[in-house]
Amino acid sequence: MADFVGAVDQGTTSTRFMIFDHSGAEVARHQLEHTQIMPRPGWVEHDPAEIWERTRTVVETTLRRAGLGVTDLAALGLTNQRETTVVWNRRTGRPYGNAIVWQDTRTDRIAAALDRDGRGDVIRHKAGLPPATYFSGAKLQWMLDHVDGLRADAERGEALFGTTDTWLLWNLTGGVHVTDVTNASRTMLMDLQTLDWDDELLGFFGIPRPMLPEIRPSSAPDPYGTTTAGGPFGGELPVTGILGDQQAATVGQVCFAAGEAKNTYGTGNFLLLNTGTEIVRSKAGLLTTVAYQFGADPAVFALEGSIAVTGSAVQWLRDQLGIISAAADSEVLAAQVDDTEGCYFVPAFSGLFAPYWRSDARGAVVGLSRFHSGAHLARATLEAICYQSRDVAQAMEQDSGVRLEVLKVDGGVTANDLCMQLQADILGVPVSRPVVAETTALGAAYAAGLATGFWRDTGELRANWHESKRWTPSWTEDRRAGGYAGWRKAVQRTLDWVEVD
Ligand code: ADP
Repeated sequence: MADFVGAVDQGTTSTRFMIFDHSGAEVARHQLEHTQIMPRPGWVEHDPAEIWERTRTVVETTLRRAGLGVTDLAALGLTNQRETTVVWNRRTGRPYGNAIVWQDTRTDRIAAALDRDGRGDVIRHKAGLPPATYFSGAKLQWMLDHVDGLRADAERGEALFGTTDTWLLWNLTGGVHVTDVTNASRTMLMDLQTLDWDDELLGFFGIPRPMLPEIRPSSAPDPYGTTTAGGPFGGELPVTGILGDQQAATVGQVCFAAGEAKNTYGTGNFLLLNTGTEIVRSKAGLLTTVAYQFGADPAVFALEGSIAVTGSAVQWLRDQLGIISAAADSEVLAAQVDDTEGCYFVPAFSGLFAPYWRSDARGAVVGLSRFHSGAHLARATLEAICYQSRDVAQAMEQDSGVRLEVLKVDGGVTANDLCMQLQADILGVPVSRPVVAETTALGAAYAAGLATGFWRDTGELRANWHESKRWTPSWTEDRRAGGYAGWRKAVQRTLDWVEVD
């Protein structure tokens, strides 16, 4: 009887493999970074062969170090950086070029054109997404338009498309071409209603259907495939869970009821609110996405607020301004003062994502006087992370009518106690962090383990969730309202700063 479940977390900067036991506790892990390839300004690529190689190594190393073999595992789950687009040849298995990463903006003209002739509104309605460089559809169109011979191969079903979940599944299983609904919901090519590729959307981007993977649930009692004996597991293991990374964190945080939300604080922030089986179309600047689909159950949807710059603003204090030497020092410096004294920092380095979606915005520090110091700026940086999250949380309440009762958090920035206290103060609701911080890999393991009966139901997963720390609001309503009014004013100052066509 296998005692563990494995999960591969293929992220933007690294790939890790983790093993969890029945209580959801981590048993072993190994992690390796891969190269960020930036051939031109605005372009970001990954080498799919390198990602597969890293995956092999982290799996083999973890199993060896833990003294475990494939028979100790009940199932394998995959989770991945979303939207990043890979195309490879069905016969040779070789990629047609580097993967185009979600951050890559080379498709800005393709995306802008969609809004000029009404196609944008169809995409918003069917796919739940605003046309943007962020999503896979335009990236795939770019490849079809620029790689010699690719379109002909794609039409014959010789060339295959996938996000990195699909690429790894293909390699692990020796040729299964499948993705899950959550990843498919980030392409601008899937209709949220039918949960299938949509011919009208495919037509907008000129994408041949034969190159697309089959869309399956996120948790699959009938496995997507089985790992091959020649692969890193050295034997057959059913692959039964796939989730995009933010959706996996939502599952890892056991947000299984409508109205439950989690906020992940990394380079950027991603707040997802479970809206149940209802598709809520945003009027307030959020995305509609599939949260998960378990087996034959109906899909569960989410509203998502994506914020481009949060933890990376702390990196900016460290790397560009040099006022701290490590990210954790931001807490020490900010704690030297107990108020920013009217100073706000809006880190709109590459425009503003949700809920504003303004590419003409640029960063600003406002409200400065001679009195202000680096400590005030550090505190304003932490507050900016929290105010941006409040903007998104407020948009969610507007769209869904649900008032957050508690915000579950995870990610690197949540190590910052002061920042989490500020989040509770600025939001006016308690903030809660779980014991297992690796919610993304855990969510993929949960999806896989639910499919095989390793975990019986979501009730059992809920029982695995334990709070490690809670921060409760301490500001008066007046302070909270005054602080937020100042933030909204500061955001206005950053808009309409650069020209965009
Ligand atoms: P990602 O998965 O996006 O790479 P992580 O969850 O690993 O992100 O978090 C990394 C981010 O968290 C970095 O941007 C870093 O600046 C920030 N960070 C890490 N520790 C702290 C801290 N103690 N205080 C503030 N920010 C932090």
